[in-house]
Amino acid sequence: MILRDLFREKHCVFSFEIFPPKTTSSIQTVTDTLAKLRDLRPDYISITYGAGGSDNTHRTLALCRMVKENGVEPLAHLTCMGCEEEDLLPVLAEMKELGIANVLALRGDRREGVTPSRTFRYAADLVRFLRRDPFFHVAAACYPEGHVECESFEADIGHLKQKVEAGVDFLNTQLFFDNEDFFRFRDRLAKEGVTVPVAAGIMPLVKMGNVSRVIAMAGVKIPAKLSRMLAKYADDEAALKEAGIAYATDQISDLIAGGVRGIHLYIMNNAEIARRISANVGEMLRHANADPAVPGGQEVLP
Ligand code: FAD
Repeated sequence: MILRDLFREKHCVFSFEIFPPKTTSSIQTVTDTLAKLRDLRPDYISITYGAGGSDNTHRTLALCRMVKENGVEPLAHLTCMGCEEEDLLPVLAEMKELGIANVLALRGDRREGVTPSRTFRYAADLVRFLRRDPFFHVAAACYPEGHVECESFEADIGHLKQKVEAGVDFLNTQLFFDNEDFFRFRDRLAKEGVTVPVAAGIMPLVKMGNVSRVIAMAGVKIPAKLSRMLAKYADDEAALKEAGIAYATDQISDLIAGGVRGIHLYIMNNAEIARRISANVGEMLRHANADPAVPGGQEVLP
């Protein structure tokens, strides 16, 4: 299935993000997780791409294949930091062999010791490269609060516009915890004439250990009500889990009411969290997608 077509058909697409296990002993766990996720009937599952090295490529593509075997469409993440064409061509060949046509084109984070690529400075370069082959359909990342490296929000919007013009079918946001940031960002894109659908990335904060790592990595702000929640339940894992699920559910419900075109759940390979949130928002998604009108507004695909 081409994910662009899914966004044409549905008002609100629902998806999960998972990462490949680091060891072969974790394969059974991921197999069980995938069986549980399949039963939740997501529209697709995206699979992250580790930084550098053929082993990472192998793990991502192996998991994409497993997702496909479970009857769910995979969206393969692919980064280009430090790569040249000759590094990526075999990866694309393997994707074609496996029938993986949907790719989330990313630059990847800067890492010490990695020589910048001559060919791929930004994700937009990877988008152009992928679009040379009509087999591939390309999505890309975006940042409602601006990307951490960018000198200004304005500049980031300009770069995003260029990336979309390079041939992106839809965008997926970085996680965020204040929906107003998302709605402001979406309105701004509409003003700039960016018409591709924007799926909202939502991460339920259910474990204290994840909180500081996630926030530092993503460079996103924590609204006061989320800070209060984290402070209140810092020492009680069970209560934090419930509060985190409730916070994410509340965010999603407000986003659906605001006409969001997609909800992408960062589930950290936790099928239980995916199940709980799917149950909470399932009826709202059904209602959003029951509208017989063609998905409209500023985000209609060309
Ligand atoms: P780009 O779009 O290239 O942007 C990076 C920076 O460069 C921005 O500040 C942008 O404003 C700037 N820029 C772009 N074009 C220009 C230009 N022409 N001139 C000057 N500046 C420019 N990382 C992984 O390693 N693996 C993953 O699987 C992964 N999955 C992700 C999924 C999602 C949904 C998101 C939001 C992020 C993910 N990341 C992943 C992290 C991502 O790789 C980093 O955020 C990275 O720092 C930027 O990637 P990008 O594709 O957005 O880069």
